[in-house]
Amino acid sequence: MSTPTTRMTTYTEPEFSLKDFLASFMLIEFVKGMVLTGKYAFRSKITLEYPEEKTPLSPRFRGLHALRRYENGEERCIACKLCEAVCPAMAITIESEQRADGSRRTTRYDIDLNKCIFCGFCEESCPVDSIVETQILEYHGENRNDLYFTKDMLLAVGDQYEPQIAAAKSADAKYR
Ligand code: SF4
Ligand code: SF4
Repeated sequence: MSTPTTRMTTYTEPEFSLKDFLASFMLIEFVKGMVLTGKYAFRSKITLEYPEEKTPLSPRFRGLHALRRYENGEERCIACKLCEAVCPAMAITIESEQRADGSRRTTRYDIDLNKCIFCGFCEESCPVDSIVETQILEYHGENRNDLYFTKDMLLAVGDQYEPQIAAAKSADAKYR
């Protein structure tokens, strides 16, 4: 049987420091704090009143996805499935068929945004600038189904925001 051990702690008085005493007596720390506050009080504010005020977004911002069309209304996507292959989250599902004119187009293009990590690989891989990530960040879903975007939904986003998407692409083009 082991013998219980008792650990004794002894209290030692802190040594008196004249320097600390004077600093405390003259409220040095308080004055330092007030000087720092005063230094920033009249500078321009760096906080914003969101959502009324917003920070600028990079043209490369990776927000909600969209599928784009050409000016004549034709879908850009040629169903090459590069985006589906490159997606690390396996969030994209594509099915396709050949049209009567010999072109290949998607019959299904879904993105599960519950899985998406917004890496931008799909956009980077697309040879025809079809799938893009827009600058839209204010959207939400109240259940998992709300964030499952079908081809029609993605095309609708593209149709609605095409001017903004084209402007962002154009602004970024010189850096590529
Ligand atoms: S942004 Fe990345 S994770 Fe999201 S769908 Fe595109 S490739 Fe997949
Ligand atoms: S969105 Fe682009 S990368 Fe994806 S299947 Fe269509 S053409 Fe290919």
